[in-house]
Amino acid sequence: TTAPGSSLDRATESEGALLQSAPVSTTFISLQEQRERLPIFKYKQQLLYAIETYGVTIVVAETGSGKTTQLPQYLYEAGWAANGNVIACTQPRRVAATSVATRVAQEVGSLLGDEVGYTIRFEDASDKERTRIKYMTDGMLFRETMVDPLLSKYSVIMIDEAHERSLYTDLLLGVLKKIRRKRPSLRLIISSATLDASMFLDYFSSSPPQPFEATVLNIPGRMYPVEIAYLSEPAEDYVREAVRVVWNLHMQGGGKSVEGDVLVFLTGREEIERALYEFSELLPTLPPNAPRLNVLALHAGLSTADQLQVFQPSERGTRKVVISTNIAEASVTIDGIRFVVDSGFVKMRMFNPTTSLASLVTQPISFSSATQRAGRAGRTAPGICYRLYPPSAMDTMPKSTSPEITRVDLTTPILQLKALGIDDLMKFEWVSAPPAESVLRALEALVNAGMLGREDARLTDIGAKVAEVPVDIGAARMLWSSKEFKCGEEILTIAAMVAVQDVFVIPDGAPGAMAELERRKFTTEEGDHLTLLNVYNAFIKFGKSSRWCSSHALSFRALSRAVSIRAQLKKYMSRFDIPTESCQGDSQRLRRCLVSGMWRNGAKWVADGTYRSVRGNVTLHVHPTSVLFTRKPRSGWVVFHEMEETKKTQIRVLTEIEPDWLLEYGHKYLDKHAGEGRT
Ligand code: ADP
Ligand code: MG
Repeated sequence: TTAPGSSLDRATESEGALLQSAPVSTTFISLQEQRERLPIFKYKQQLLYAIETYGVTIVVAETGSGKTTQLPQYLYEAGWAANGNVIACTQPRRVAATSVATRVAQEVGSLLGDEVGYTIRFEDASDKERTRIKYMTDGMLFRETMVDPLLSKYSVIMIDEAHERSLYTDLLLGVLKKIRRKRPSLRLIISSATLDASMFLDYFSSSPPQPFEATVLNIPGRMYPVEIAYLSEPAEDYVREAVRVVWNLHMQGGGKSVEGDVLVFLTGREEIERALYEFSELLPTLPPNAPRLNVLALHAGLSTADQLQVFQPSERGTRKVVISTNIAEASVTIDGIRFVVDSGFVKMRMFNPTTSLASLVTQPISFSSATQRAGRAGRTAPGICYRLYPPSAMDTMPKSTSPEITRVDLTTPILQLKALGIDDLMKFEWVSAPPAESVLRALEALVNAGMLGREDARLTDIGAKVAEVPVDIGAARMLWSSKEFKCGEEILTIAAMVAVQDVFVIPDGAPGAMAELERRKFTTEEGDHLTLLNVYNAFIKFGKSSRWCSSHALSFRALSRAVSIRAQLKKYMSRFDIPTESCQGDSQRLRRCLVSGMWRNGAKWVADGTYRSVRGNVTLHVHPTSVLFTRKPRSGWVVFHEMEETKKTQIRVLTEIEPDWLLEYGHKYLDKHAGEGRT
């Protein structure tokens, strides 16, 4: 860790006069020093040489080496952003793109969105003319290839966290390989935190072989030993267990004997909030002379300001505890961590091609994830990793996490590939080919939705338009059918509200209870989508006030985002001549329109209070946050927005429907295929 005091002293000796007149430069000097202390700094010339010489440079270095924050700056300083060129760095996660851009803007001395900016879906903090270093999600850069097929404004593209093999990282690699054939001056950097770089090297070195096509640079990191502690049995409730472990660790020797911050890995916002709540109950019992505990959350639902909190160094006599999703595994580095608590679980997107149901699944992490998580404890000093599972669990873990492309719904990405002019999916150079079954399902779905031609599987007019809209196919379908159902006004709002999550906040220390009461004020009989509509309309009616939001347990940030998303989607609507009429309170029309997009997610209520999915006959539990949690819908049928598997399968954001509305969409399709099998 840096000692701001000491760098200040040194600076004062040599540049005292400057310091007094411009105190701002103290931060600059210490940031500069921090930059030079990173392991990657010594390799700067070597890196720049490789990038100059080779088309593709694969950089392997430990998390925290400085890949993400430093490499784009080195390129910038070396002139790669001259003549209006832009240096792009992609991230699989939105939170990483925003927090890293914020940090780099500071280091460069730029306002965020000026020289250094970021672009994530529905949020653009970059300037068309001035931005030179652009952090963006991999999905956004992929989208950009539809508008600018050669990505001509970029001189260097860094695909960061490539080892994670996110869906759009894989798709981008395929497209970038093609682009480089047409535009060899484009430089690629593939950066990875794990050693398995040979696969990327093979991928880029393959036919036809070119001299100086690709190279690998390994940068040794600093790593201190990490001791591993296991539980003898898997934790019954790893959230509670994680809190217990942190508490015991803190209380050892009255909290005085062990210094160092703690990083806890859980799977999502709800678990993190539950852990925060458990801490809030424990904290008052902390002996007055014991060091303080500063417990912070890190997940995608936080505002940028809240995210940045976790990077603040701990004050003296305080231990920082960061409770995070997988984002802290490799995407962001928090200095000063000496203890890691690993739940052993992660939440992942999964698609079952047999039922065509997509869900978020909480499942055991891979061996390489476990290693990576443990490594977070040894960056600044020797550390300890507490694994909330027994050593035997390591034997059953998969070696590494499977590439996302092999396990998600490919409907939207395949439409996008088609829109890029990649008609022959068999010829596309996949890094890992997706399962044929998923590709066929996606093609079928697109043909049935009229987005690909039935005969030739080529993009139709409507398919081309839908591919441009930054929402999934189902949501796009709803926007288009709103013309028929005359409810564009309301559908736009609903599409925006489901795109932002976390509209309802859980006020400190009272999980559920107050939010629940507040939610009821907006509740509609028909279910959650219309409830969200009411919330949005009330937000507008009461002047988009943040005070109004906090008194109703609503997130001002999420609702403001919904307003902005709605405005962006509305632009697409008018571009494609879809009227935004109001349904004038006719909920039936509106719900039929919802079904046009979500018919694949139909479910029927059964007597024990659970539902069965129309496809696959899966048992579904209603998520407790749904307004239909305790109530049977009159018709007995619903469509749902999202499915999540933890110990049981839960559905959230439900709307009551009539079963025959499903027939209009799904049934023809299901019947046809039940008879003839898949073709
Ligand atoms: P890598 O990409 O190799 O994992 P990074 O470039 O993300 O490494 O991080 C390099 C250093 O920058 C780390 O020591 C980290 O603590 C610091 N850093 C990154 N983001 C922030 C931030 N938002 N605030 C403070 N320090 C940061
Ligand atoms: Mg990084």
